[in-house]
Formats: sequence, C-alpha cells, structure tokens
Amino acid sequence: MIVDYHLHTSRCGHATGEMAEYLATARKRGVEEVGFADHFPLELLGEARKKGISMAAEELEGYFAEIKELQQTVDIPVKIGAEVDYFPGREETAAQVLAGYDFDYLIGSVHYLDGWDFTHPGRRDLYAGKDIMELYRQYFAAICRLAESGLFDIVGHLDVIKKFGYFPPGDWTEIIDKTCRVLKETGICVEFNTSGWRAPVGEAYPGPAFLQKCRELGVPVTLGSDAHSVRDAGRDLDRAVRILRRLGFREIAVFSGRRRTMCPLPPV
Ligand SMILES: [Zn+2]
Ligand SMILES: [Zn+2]
Repeated sequence: MIVDYHLHTSRCGHATGEMAEYLATARKRGVEEVGFADHFPLELLGEARKKGISMAAEELEGYFAEIKELQQTVDIPVKIGAEVDYFPGREETAAQVLAGYDFDYLIGSVHYLDGWDFTHPGRRDLYAGKDIMELYRQYFAAICRLAESGLFDIVGHLDVIKKFGYFPPGDWTEIIDKTCRVLKETGICVEFNTSGWRAPVGEAYPGPAFLQKCRELGVPVTLGSDAHSVRDAGRDLDRAVRILRRLGFREIAVFSGRRRTMCPLPPV
C-alpha cells in the first residue's frame, strides 16, 4: 500500500491546484490511497487570521463537501485530514474546535517558535544569530508536547527545523532518542514526508537517524508528499518506500475516522 496523506490545495492560499488534479497526479505515481491535509484555519486555534497561511473558517464546509464528492467519483479511497498547527498552552481551544469535525486523521505540526515562522523562506535570515543546539532543543520540546497533547494522529515533518540546512554543531543523538521515546509512549504516528528532498536541506523529514530510532522502538509511520503544487502529488513516495523497507519497516499506518490500521508496504 502506498498512501499520500499530506496534500494541500489552493484553499490555504499558498498552494496551487485543485483536489481532482492532485488526485490524478498521485494516482499516476502509483498512490493507492490519498488524504487531503490542508492547513486548518488559524483563527479557530486562537490565532489571528492570516491570509495566505491557512484555510479560512468559512472554507471548511466546502473542503469537506469537495472531498466527499470525490469519494463518490474516484476509484481509490480519499481521506479527510487536516494539518493543524500546534500551539503549546492552547490545547483546550484546539480540542474543543477539532471535536466538532469528522476527520479521518489529523496531522499536528510545529511551524512557529515564539511567533517566528521558521519554515518560511522569507524568515530564513533569523537562523543566523541563533544557537542552533538550543533552537533544536526548543523545537523538539514543542514536538514532545504536541505528541503528549493527544490531539493528533500523526506528527507532521518531524525534523523540519533542519529545512534550511542548519544542524547543531555537536552530537544531538540525545534529542533524537528522547523525542522518539515520547513518540512511542504517546502512540502517535510519524509521517515520512518527502518534501525535505525538495527543500534546501535535501533530506526527507525525518532523517535516517530518526527513522532508525522509530523502527527500533516500533513507532508507526505513514507517507506524505506535502505537495503544494499538483506536480508534487505522490512525489518520491517510491523512494521513501524503498528506504523504509531497507530500514526494516514492513507496514505503514492508514486512518479512517481517527482510527489507525497497519497495511503492508509494497515489495520493492
Ligand atoms: Zn503549506
Ligand atoms: Zn507543514
């Protein structure tokens, strides 16, 4: 089974293309199940509404309706997901609002540290003055809290803090080990997100050391392209599957109605 659980759409304002187009491209690449995971409205999470960053609250109804229509017309399963920003301390707000929707799965992601959108190319200069080890500690502490919140089924692009190629100068195995232990304890699933191969770092999220540790501890994984344009739908998932198999993974997680089942990975 090859799935692509991380597809955006033009609704978020910084992606292009329509759902049917993403789906068609993913199918051509051998994807057998897709899930849309557009950015959940920030204003529903207690943030100011920002244009071009997430869907707007009033777009959610159309988002659900369009996916439900696709489910009737295409021959592969289409799941309803969302990528939800995790804001430490706002768990209550998130829990209340998310309970009002019928998602198949929720991807929890950290895109902000102290209000800094550290994945945004336009904010990249802010890395320069930072203690990168300290930054990694802060980021992965947020990831651990995200997992412990119990709000999400999947942690999105686990080590995206490396996006622009900044790595701690010393050994940071301890951070990797601790994070993976928390992931295991909380039962959350990790996406193997191929968009890192298209980013300046040139390495998928998460990197080999994280994947190895997830494998060792039995943390489940799923797959996502994080496509923001149609041409990236389903991209590099075959390469991801080969890597997972080489590391000893034999199954990936799929979700329906927020329940996880494990499906065999295709042979390579
Ligand atoms: Zn996005
Ligand atoms: Zn993201």
